[in-house]
Amino acid sequence: MAPVLIAGAGIGGLTAAACLLQAGIDVQVFEQAPALGEVGAGIQISANAGRVYRHLGLMEAVRAAGAVPALYRFRMFDTGEVLQTIPLGAGYEARHGVPYVTIHRADLHALLVDRVRSLKPDAIRLGVGVQGYESGPDGAVLQTSQGPVAGSAVIGADGVRSAIRAQMLGNTPAEYTGDCVWRAMVPTADLPPEHQTDCVDIWVGPHRHAVTYPLRGGALTNFVGCVEYDGLPEDSWTTARPWAEMQADFTGWHPMIGALIDHAARDQCYRWSLRIRPPVDNWTDGRVTLLGDAAHPTLPYMAQGAAMAVEDAVVLARCLDGAEVPGALARYQQARLARTSRIVTESTANRALFHQPDRDRLQAAFAARDMNAERTAWLFSYDPVSVDLGA
Ligand SMILES: Cc1cc2nc3c(=O)[nH]c(=O)nc-3n(C[C@H](O)[C@H](O)[C@H](O)COP(=O)(O)OP(=O)(O)OC[C@H]3O[C@@H](n4cnc5c(N)ncnc54)[C@H](O)[C@@H]3O)c2cc1C
Repeated sequence: MAPVLIAGAGIGGLTAAACLLQAGIDVQVFEQAPALGEVGAGIQISANAGRVYRHLGLMEAVRAAGAVPALYRFRMFDTGEVLQTIPLGAGYEARHGVPYVTIHRADLHALLVDRVRSLKPDAIRLGVGVQGYESGPDGAVLQTSQGPVAGSAVIGADGVRSAIRAQMLGNTPAEYTGDCVWRAMVPTADLPPEHQTDCVDIWVGPHRHAVTYPLRGGALTNFVGCVEYDGLPEDSWTTARPWAEMQADFTGWHPMIGALIDHAARDQCYRWSLRIRPPVDNWTDGRVTLLGDAAHPTLPYMAQGAAMAVEDAVVLARCLDGAEVPGALARYQQARLARTSRIVTESTANRALFHQPDRDRLQAAFAARDMNAERTAWLFSYDPVSVDLGA
C-alpha cells in the first residue's frame, strides 16, 4: 500500500504516525515548521490517553519525564478552599492501569518523535507546508509547498487552522471564545515551600480561572491563566506580553498564584486568544480525513484536546489495519464522532462552571457535582486501544 500521508507533526500527527507504523502501515509526515518542537507549556495526560502511550511502549518514558501528581483539586480562587477532588497518584493508577501524568509538551513531543523515527527514520519531512488534497478512487494526493505527493490516504493533523479542513469544510475562521490564556513556567525551587505543590489545581473564580501543576518530576511548576477579555487580542502561542498585565489579571488571588506570578520570568509571560469551532458531523472526504484539533478543536477546560487527538490516532490505525481506505476512514469517523462531540461540548460548558460571577455561585455549582465520579465513569475509563469500534 502507498504511504498514508499525514499533515502536521504535532502530538496528534506524531501519535498517528507511531500507531500506524507500529501496525505495519507505511506513513510520511509533512510538517511546515523547519524544526521539530513544542512551546514551553505543560500538558496533562489522563488514563484514556495514557493507554495509547502504553500501547506504543512509551508509558514508562512519559512517566519518567513528567510528574505523577497526588490529587486533582478544584479550589476557590482567593481562599484556596477545596471544592472537589479527584484522587490521582497510586490509587488512580491502580484503578485505571496507567498513571495520570503531567509533562512538559516539548518532552512529550520529543518522545513521540523518537518513537516515530525508531520505526521509520525518515518518516518526518520538515519545512514542507501542506496546501490541499485530491481524493481519487485508487489513491490520494497531498499538495505541498514542494509539489504533489501520492499516497493511499491523507490525514489532516494540521491543527486548528488546518489547510486540509479548509478545503474539505470551507475556509471559515475559528471563532474567538471570549477568553485569553496566559502561560508561564517557574522553577519550583524558587517558590516558598508552602507554595510548592504536587497537585493539579484548578483555581476557579469570577470571569477567569487558573491551572497549576508540577512538571519534570516537580522541578518546574506550570501556570495557565484563562481570562475573559472583550475584543480580539493577539493570537499566537508565542506572543509575550507585559508581566504587569498578567499580574493585574490575578490581583487578589490566592498567595500561591501570587507567588507563581511573582517568580515568572518577566519577559516570558505569553498570552493568546482561544478559538473554537462548533462540532461537525463529517470530517472525512473519500480517502482524506481529519484528526485532533483539525477535526474537533476543544477548549482546554477539561485538558482533553491532545487526549482526543491521541485517542483518534490509535482508533484510526486500528480502522486502517488490513482494511480498504475509504471504508476504514468512514468507520474511524463514526467511532469518534459522539465521544469527541461530547468532549467539545463539556469542555465549553466548563467555562461557565469555572467562571461563576461570585463565591456563592461557585460554591453552589461545585456542590452539585461529583467530578471524580463523572470523569471516572466516561472519560478516564475509555480505552481507545481496545474499545469496540463497531462494524
Ligand atoms: C492552554 C492550553 C492547555 C492545554 N492543556 C491540555 C492538556 O492538559 N491535555 C490535553 O490533552 N490537551 C490540552 N490542550 C489541548 C492541546 O494542546 C491540543 O488539543 C493539541 O495540541 C492538538 O494537537 P494536534 O496535533 O491536533 O494539533 P497541533 O498541536 O496544533 O499540531 C498541528 C501541527 O501541524 C502543523 N501544521 C499546521 N499547518 C500546517 C500545514 N499547512 N502544513 C504542514 N504542517 C502544518 C503545525 O506546525 C503543528 O506542528 C491544551 C490547550 C491549551 C491552549
